[in-house]
Amino acid sequence: MDRSKLYRRFHTLLIANRGEIAVRVIRTAKAMGLRTVAVYSEADRGALHVAMADEAVLLGPSRARDSYLNIERVIEAARRSGAEAIHPGYGFLSENADFAKACLDAGLIFVGPTAEMMQAMGSKSGSKLLMEKAGVPLVPGYHGEAQDDATLAKAAAKIGFPVLVKASAGGGGRGMRIVRKADELPASVESAKREAKAAFGDDRLLIEKLVQNPRHIEVQVIGDSHGNLLSLFERECTLQRRHQKVIEEAPSPTLNAAQRDAVCAAARKAAGAVSYVGAGTIEFVSDGKDVFFIEMNTRLQVEHPVTELITGVDLVEWQLLIASGEKLPMTQDQITLHGHAIEARVYAENPGKNFMPSVGTIRSWNIPEQAAGLRIDAGYRAGDTVSPHYDAMLAKLIAWAPTRDGAIDRLTHALSESDVRGVVTNIPFLTALVGHPAVRANVIDTGFIERELDHLTAAPKPPGDLEFAAAVAAVLQQEATAAGGVARSPWGAAGWMPVGRRQRVFTFRQGQGGEQKVGLHYGKGPVTLSVGGREIGFAVAPGLTRGIDVTLDGIKSHVQAIVEGHELYVRTRNGRFELHWVDPFGGDDEEQVGEDRIVAPLPGTVVAILAEVGAKLEKGAPILTLEVMKMEQTLRAPFAGVLKAIKCKVGDIVGEGVELAEIEPAGERP
Ligand code: ADP
Ligand code: ADP
Ligand code: MG
Repeated sequence: MDRSKLYRRFHTLLIANRGEIAVRVIRTAKAMGLRTVAVYSEADRGALHVAMADEAVLLGPSRARDSYLNIERVIEAARRSGAEAIHPGYGFLSENADFAKACLDAGLIFVGPTAEMMQAMGSKSGSKLLMEKAGVPLVPGYHGEAQDDATLAKAAAKIGFPVLVKASAGGGGRGMRIVRKADELPASVESAKREAKAAFGDDRLLIEKLVQNPRHIEVQVIGDSHGNLLSLFERECTLQRRHQKVIEEAPSPTLNAAQRDAVCAAARKAAGAVSYVGAGTIEFVSDGKDVFFIEMNTRLQVEHPVTELITGVDLVEWQLLIASGEKLPMTQDQITLHGHAIEARVYAENPGKNFMPSVGTIRSWNIPEQAAGLRIDAGYRAGDTVSPHYDAMLAKLIAWAPTRDGAIDRLTHALSESDVRGVVTNIPFLTALVGHPAVRANVIDTGFIERELDHLTAAPKPPGDLEFAAAVAAVLQQEATAAGGVARSPWGAAGWMPVGRRQRVFTFRQGQGGEQKVGLHYGKGPVTLSVGGREIGFAVAPGLTRGIDVTLDGIKSHVQAIVEGHELYVRTRNGRFELHWVDPFGGDDEEQVGEDRIVAPLPGTVVAILAEVGAKLEKGAPILTLEVMKMEQTLRAPFAGVLKAIKCKVGDIVGEGVELAEIEPAGERP
């Protein structure tokens, strides 16, 4: 077959995917002047990739089977939108030969290899047979057709335990079982088959020798329809959890130059064996000495950006050029390696709970801006919903620097600046992982995360002065922006005439730990904070970018803090802290819960009104401040609702139990 006939110039590209990869493909396609068409499911109506594309077509219900995995609907969407080519991204239909064939039959260009190449390499068993013939080194194992128990048992015994049972059609680390003893084999085979059947619709298995202390090394390859095939160096993805990559880097810090040349040559040989067209990855495991082929992925890989950062090549651009029938724009000699790149995958999941995915609405999204040496590939933003129907990867943070140490430093910094609220994320876990001395020293293997899990998910340390100061600053800042933005803080002037020395006491609690009282002293004389018996100079100013500048005892510190009702999330140079703000006169007051009226808890003076009548209030939102015995206390909404009335004004002296405001609950009250 003349392959070049399959590929031809096109102007409209449909992206048959979602999340960060759809966004990433759209970005390059637009830069190349293509019209872009997104597809989406009902769950993704408001998703970022839909907003970014020139056009978007609804595929169907949220379930992947009814939308992103539905071949007829994707083809129909291409027809209706006038798309001429389809980029499958990764996952979903990207390695589905039937889909590649359906595109061809519908007169559409599939951005990727042909269905035949996919079939040849798609099964781990089939590809190992091919590689064996081509002389590519393999992990010793069984990859035959016969699947009966006796054959598998004999094969495992011959290989020698421990072995790895794998789904031939597997991916994403699923359908894989480590078997240490012969008598464990039948149960593992049965459960691997069941998982493989459910996940891939194919229960064929293969068995491999379990390589000890393995490292994962892979090579990016790309071929055009004119017979040119290039390798773009290797990546190392040894940091995995449950056989799923977490951190990836390029080049591999484990290989020397000779080993690098050898593994790249082996990869070109592997891809050459099927005259490969498109972007693909040849995966190997290494025992620290030799590398052994394990599989080929006939698509773009999640971790492709690290390769892009060290080579300067935009792999999606090259994929689209190849699909347009063009020749690869470079020769092997022109592909050079520059610096080091490392990527972290941000997931909505809980590493402390066996990496259980987390779903919900993203309330706040603080991921650093793209900058020199820092690339952000994100598929979400604040307000988006993480649905249980799809992979829970939210974004990738990719750092580049001339050296590996420099790249790790940049990634560490970017992670420490990252915070997502509304779903549980693996960001604290990633921060601990990238900061681990063994990772920096590259003394790791694929079992590292599992072994170090307790350490990597350890509870945060107790907060200190700076964290309490940041918490107080966050509350003050929140109050200053409440009440229609009227600045009101110990430093702001509006509506604020302090007489004498005043103080306000905050009580915080961390986790199940004890309570800490923090006093804020202001008015006449300098503003100070008292923590644990000491009084320290204290000042707050808005940060230059995001966050708050807290000056404590003469040292300015840039901190990040988020107040959500009574929960405070604080990030300082010491790490991340979650504090509960115990406010004796606010929403925490048991007696006030369920009460529509806000009453003075003690006799006092109204010193500030912080919300306007008619305002929608979150639970814990500040309403007004009362001065009680030279101490200020802010009264807060005991539940979410609308402020119906304010029954006092600044300066009023009120008695205990006097009604000050009325709030109408929103929906059902707790
Ligand atoms: P592999 O583990 O096969 O070497 P990758 O690490 O690149 O390959 O991706 C693992 C698999 O996880 C992909 O094949 C894909 O099915 C799935 N996957 C990961 N993230 C996403 C995502 N955001 N959208 C869709 N599928 C995803
Ligand atoms: P998937 O298609 O799920 O990506 P792979 O065959 O690529 O499956 O294996 C996934 C991971 O499992 C590898 O990255 C590696 O960490 C581990 N692994 C695979 N084969 C072996 C082996 N023979 N010995 C030890 N570890 C292996
Ligand atoms: Mg793999």
